[in-house]
Amino acid sequence: MGIETLRKVGITPLRVFSGRGVKPHLSLSFYDVEGIERIFGIDTTPFSKKMVEPDSYLITHAHSDHYGKSAMSSKLSVASKETATALELLHGREFNGSTFEMEGSFLIGETEVSTFRTNHTIGSSAYLWENECGVRILVTGDVKDYRELPSCDLLVTEANYGDPFDSACYFEDDLKNFLEVAGGGEVVFGAYAFGKAQRAVTTLRNSGFEDPIGMSQKSLNLTKSLLEDGGELVGLNNDANVWIVPPHELSGIERSNRFVLTCRSDYYYPAIHLSDHMDVRGLVAMVEHCQPEATLLYHPKGDRPKKLADHLLNEELCTAIAAEDIHPTTPKRK
Ligand SMILES: [Zn+2]
Repeated sequence: MGIETLRKVGITPLRVFSGRGVKPHLSLSFYDVEGIERIFGIDTTPFSKKMVEPDSYLITHAHSDHYGKSAMSSKLSVASKETATALELLHGREFNGSTFEMEGSFLIGETEVSTFRTNHTIGSSAYLWENECGVRILVTGDVKDYRELPSCDLLVTEANYGDPFDSACYFEDDLKNFLEVAGGGEVVFGAYAFGKAQRAVTTLRNSGFEDPIGMSQKSLNLTKSLLEDGGELVGLNNDANVWIVPPHELSGIERSNRFVLTCRSDYYYPAIHLSDHMDVRGLVAMVEHCQPEATLLYHPKGDRPKKLADHLLNEELCTAIAAEDIHPTTPKRK
């Protein structure tokens, strides 16, 4: 099922050209069960007034490279309750769209959209719906754990670590090292305020770590608001053996042990592997799990979506397309 085949079953992936360049990510045009043409934006920014208005902007999670900051101003936006809360805390303004309970479903017109956890961040959600031909479309956003995802015909997913020829795309979380270092005390970990910081707290609490955890203000607000069972979380002026701060704040902190929780290798401080993503083996396993006829790799920018598409084709797992290969168009008002 290449782009032409997708069109024959009533699905047209769109990359929107806005005059100032191509808008992020993509939109999917399809015919719903009543035969009405619908457009769902996927982690994109609102269309200009001259363009046709989509039926919805689906936001998969609150990371800035998925553009919720811009989409949250539109009443057409949809996000999980947790994602909407995270966007409001991160950007200091109101989420104007509608929200849903995780693992529930909602209607857009006559189309029922079901939601599934991806465990990439708190509130990160995949979306599944069918078009008029019964073709099952699954949009995942970023994924840490694919096991709760359903099977589908068209998988629209990420390729953050999707290059099978790049050694950086093979990793495992080093939980043992992380817990040992945390247990040693007098340590500060660099972790992004939304996503990695909550993963670090959850990992510590699940291991039985009950001591207070110190966090810088933004991380503390997000974690207290979004994480149930986070235990005792305090500001950095309180006593705590373990601190968590955004990576860029590490250099300003006087502690003998400083680490970054990351799978990247370009930080000054030593890294402990703890990722919000799957490596390339996980991405391929997700495709095998979801059993799509076609996969559309839509994120991130760069050549990794194309590299993963080529790999899926070479392995004969399914037809695969990188979003960058879709010619940009400007969907005009009729
Ligand atoms: Zn993300």
